[in-house]
Amino acid sequence: MAVSRYRCILDNTMLVELAFMPTQEHKVCDVCHTRETTHHIVSSVGGIKQVSNLCNDCFRASATPEQAEFENTVSSAHCEYCGDHPCAGGTDFLALATGLQKLKFMCMTCIGEYLRYTQEELEKVPKDLSQEEQSAAIGGICGRADTHMKWWVSKKK
Ligand SMILES: [Zn+2]
Ligand SMILES: [Zn+2]
Repeated sequence: MAVSRYRCILDNTMLVELAFMPTQEHKVCDVCHTRETTHHIVSSVGGIKQVSNLCNDCFRASATPEQAEFENTVSSAHCEYCGDHPCAGGTDFLALATGLQKLKFMCMTCIGEYLRYTQEELEKVPKDLSQEEQSAAIGGICGRADTHMKWWVSKKK
């Protein structure tokens, strides 16, 4: 089965790398039009979704040093919560809002729950807060999401 990587850039807030996803479609690379696609880069900026399909060689040729380093980190990482092989990772946007830059890796199951929980919590944050109050509120969600995920994973086992 073909192994692909999905990279999503969600409105510049979180870079989500969804890797090792089996694909049904066998598309050829957008650049060389000969080799099979292994990297699907999905970006959503300002609500406009763009998808590019690249083969491994073309991806490597176009990757920035940061992306290449990220690839290496991903291949040796584990899901932060259940220890499974991660399919998604990136800069933790919640931690980033509090001025902390850290990488977070999650498996497909955990990221689904993590995004659902944080989305729900973010919606409760009043929109008219000052920048400082907002950072504090997001920092709180970040901590609660961690606790929630640990509880959620232990409940599942
Ligand atoms: Zn190519
Ligand atoms: Zn997990």
